[in-house]
Amino acid sequence: MNQMITNHLPTAELQALDAAHHFHPFTDRNALAKKGARVITSADGVWLKDSEGHKIIDGMAGLWCVNIGYGRKELARVAARQMEELPYYNTFFQTTHVPAIALAAKIAELAPAHMNQVFFASSGSEANDTNIRLVRRYWQVKGKPEKRTIIARWNGYHGSTMGGGSLGGMKPIHAHGGMIEGIHHIGQPDWWSEGGDMTPEEFGLLRARELETAIEELGVENVAAFIGEPIQGAGGVIVPPSTYWPEIQRICKKYGILLIADEVITGFGRTGNWFGSTTFDIKPDIITIAKGLSSGYQPVGGSILSDDVAEVVAEGGEFFHGYTYSGHPVACAVALENLHLMQEEHVVEHVANVAHPYLKARWDALRDHPMVGETKLVGLMGSLALTPNKEKRAKFAAEAGTVGYKVRERCFANDLIMRHVGDRIIISPPLVITTAEIDILVERAKKSLDEAY
Ligand code: PLP
Repeated sequence: MNQMITNHLPTAELQALDAAHHFHPFTDRNALAKKGARVITSADGVWLKDSEGHKIIDGMAGLWCVNIGYGRKELARVAARQMEELPYYNTFFQTTHVPAIALAAKIAELAPAHMNQVFFASSGSEANDTNIRLVRRYWQVKGKPEKRTIIARWNGYHGSTMGGGSLGGMKPIHAHGGMIEGIHHIGQPDWWSEGGDMTPEEFGLLRARELETAIEELGVENVAAFIGEPIQGAGGVIVPPSTYWPEIQRICKKYGILLIADEVITGFGRTGNWFGSTTFDIKPDIITIAKGLSSGYQPVGGSILSDDVAEVVAEGGEFFHGYTYSGHPVACAVALENLHLMQEEHVVEHVANVAHPYLKARWDALRDHPMVGETKLVGLMGSLALTPNKEKRAKFAAEAGTVGYKVRERCFANDLIMRHVGDRIIISPPLVITTAEIDILVERAKKSLDEAY
């Protein structure tokens, strides 16, 4: 039966089979059954093609991951070669292989100078689960086993496993199955929605100082780490005010708690540097990576460890943690080739010097639209805040149906993928996007905003 399901089937038939047998992540299954999912059949550069033959510009790089763009044959060739040579071997129990060695060394070369060891996983969620165990183990080895609590932010996103979902501050995820113990959330630095009459800088300090208050309330003897995304991605591309990260860094240092930068989105060029930590001048103890590491061509993620974390955890002897696919050879080989291509083709420089300034001028001009309040763009990661009243930074009434959803639907109809998070429209295109493609993207975005208004 399965062999007969191909791209050549009519779309309606594919959709019916999909609805009957495929339980999708983060999807209302009943709504999907009524409407049918859009079937994507192929892709090249920043362009997707669907089963009806539409050419869609992918303003989200899949799920913020296809940094190098679609259709890179070099990556397919490396995968095929690696599958023939060594399709699988583990990195447990004193064995290793060249793809894992080479990828770890390449990541250490690109990472901040004090970070030289990588623990591999297959996804960002798994990597954050690793981080929970790592930081708790770190303090155990240091003779402070009661330091277990990890402080995170409301509306942050760190994955959807029980560990990642608990670190994240998304209440609908907590509501489905609860949370693990020892996670504490503080406010997010979202000045547009929550900053009231304060300046962004005042608000950035206020929100960062919630970390200090939380440490004092919980007792520093109980706190292991703070985790945050340099820019909150899935929460709506919330770019923190300039005062936020320096203050967070100061507080982590003052109390000696570990700082985890979750760079699953901001890593590998998205913000115009190899790491968002560089863009925001953060000195983390652990960096979570995934997505752009392989440009999404293979599922691979991990934790980059500072020399201090790696040494302390190693002092404790065996670290009882690992995944069958930690350092999977095909995933590592593809990720390594992806990083080589990005270096050879100066993709990160393209973001910083070409794509970002070119898009920024056009993105900020969308503020002329009557419905667009704040515009944000760092590297190729941006958002528009939709509002009925720019002065008051007001929210649309819930009964207006979500306006963000309407914009997203108009984008979809106009062959542009942009997502919405409440009343925020978000964007994160492949990093190789050209200026001509940026023009098409912005033109379609404008048209969609007009149609939804
Ligand atoms: N951390 C961040 C910042 C993310 O944006 C995501 C996914 O969007 C994750 C972790 C989870 O990664 P994955 O979906 O690969 O498990």
